[in-house]
Amino acid sequence: MLGTMMDVPLLLSSILRHAEAYHGDGEVVSATVEGGLHRYTYAEMAQRSRKLANALARLGLKTGDRVGTLAWNGYRHLELYYGVSGSGFVCHTINPRLFREQIAYIIAHGGDSVLFFDLTFLPIVEELAEQLKGLKAVVAMTDEAHMPKSAALPGLLCYESLIAGEPDSFDWPSFDENTASGLCYTSGTTGDPKGVLYSNRSCVLHAMAIAMPDGLGLSANDAICPIVPMFHVNAWGLPFAAPMTGAKLVLPGAHLDGASLHALFEGEGVSITAGVPTVWLGLLDWMDTHAREFSILKRVVIGGSAVPPIMVSRFHSKGVEVRQAWGMTETSPVGLAAALKPKHQAFPAEQRLALECKQGRPLFGMEFRVAGAEGREMPHDGKSFGSMLVRGPWVAQAYFNTATSPAHEEHPGWFDTGDVVTMDAEGFIQIVDRTKDVVKSGGEWISSIDLENIAQAHPAIQEAAIVARPDTRWGERPVLVVVLKPGASFTRQDMRAHYEGKTSKWCVPDDVIVLDELPHTATGKLSKKTIREILQEQMAGRAPDPEIGS
Ligand code: AMP
Repeated sequence: MLGTMMDVPLLLSSILRHAEAYHGDGEVVSATVEGGLHRYTYAEMAQRSRKLANALARLGLKTGDRVGTLAWNGYRHLELYYGVSGSGFVCHTINPRLFREQIAYIIAHGGDSVLFFDLTFLPIVEELAEQLKGLKAVVAMTDEAHMPKSAALPGLLCYESLIAGEPDSFDWPSFDENTASGLCYTSGTTGDPKGVLYSNRSCVLHAMAIAMPDGLGLSANDAICPIVPMFHVNAWGLPFAAPMTGAKLVLPGAHLDGASLHALFEGEGVSITAGVPTVWLGLLDWMDTHAREFSILKRVVIGGSAVPPIMVSRFHSKGVEVRQAWGMTETSPVGLAAALKPKHQAFPAEQRLALECKQGRPLFGMEFRVAGAEGREMPHDGKSFGSMLVRGPWVAQAYFNTATSPAHEEHPGWFDTGDVVTMDAEGFIQIVDRTKDVVKSGGEWISSIDLENIAQAHPAIQEAAIVARPDTRWGERPVLVVVLKPGASFTRQDMRAHYEGKTSKWCVPDDVIVLDELPHTATGKLSKKTIREILQEQMAGRAPDPEIGS
């Protein structure tokens, strides 16, 4: 027997309608590409999104058509999120930090009909001009006063002019909640980037889940600033969850340095922010150098790569809670959040810190398995490890237009994350490593994350990575690659002394390499692949035991 409740589809346009109706005066503040802050309300944002929807219809888009964006976190990008997806089209966010060839591939593979871009990315668009000739429109996200004159892009449209003459009434269509709403490519270390095609339903459910107190914990009383870009996995769903809760939304644009972020947080009363560890390193260092504190910020959500304990302690010393979250492009992204339970509040500080440094416990809706050899479920004892599998309503079951399947071969219906993890009795999951980053020495696994966390706590070290070096005797051995703080030095002897007593003897890295900077991927994570390549070059012809650093 079926229940007798209304069958109302979960659509992204309903978030917009909700925000306009009940949080109409809620603010959206954006740092703009043109300069200065732009501010308006959810009511105005909803009105402009409707004008945009009318403009898109006039361009002749049909249900399911892809609309590409190359843009920062800003109000026009937000209008595209809703104007495009609310109309039944697909908002295809493209990561401008990828190589040109990858961007070209992604636009072609995604089959984009229209491309919108921020002025910052004009050079990329000009380079791709030939490829874009067949598109219905290429639109610069600016006003007439700032329109570039581009010989390479003769038919270039202006965003403000495109929507200016449109009526501000538009009836958001109702359709199947499983209709595609967004597309985001994930660039693995091998093969072509793969497209993850989100649906209205998956995005709405994900937004509800992250908003929960033990998710990312959002409320109408918050001002939320996603530093994580809107071009990568929908800025972790915050552009949907903020208007859903009525929270003020603060969008940082291209200004992600410590000084700009601190000024924005203080000026706009930001209470919750979210981003990858690299960004926070920059902010914390800037604050230390300039003796600044936070007056309002209460929580920072950190994910995308492991959070070093020293980073958690540095935020704690500034009175800010750290909520680690885990996710992937294929999981919308958030699946785990490390919110402590009441019993943990009484734990000694060190034990609480250890829990906060785990990736977190499952949000409702997401099921996790730790699969050992032959697919056996491993005990939830916080020690036994295996491959992390996940399933849930916001997990990809296929990639866009590709035969490659994200499903685990031995576990149909489960997505294999590629992360090796432990789970404890409370459901807290800890990543031991990415399957491909683990160092396998003498048949034993060494967690690169553990060794990086230890290194990161040394006062001379700015940023650290552990990579495997091939070894004839052991198979692989760990090598530490670091960037030093200005004026600092760090030798092999310093390294050995620092690791002593903090890990087993055989896990201590064999060597340390100092670089001026560490390479990062387009999503701000350490690029272990590039580091391994640099290492190969560095190790060739290396003298034994030199003094490193100066
Ligand atoms: P992407 O799809 O590019 O966002 O990358 C997903 C991968 O990032 C995951 O499989 C993890 O290996 C890694 N990742 C995400 N969040 C965390 C976290 N909190 N700690 C460690 N690794 C993470």
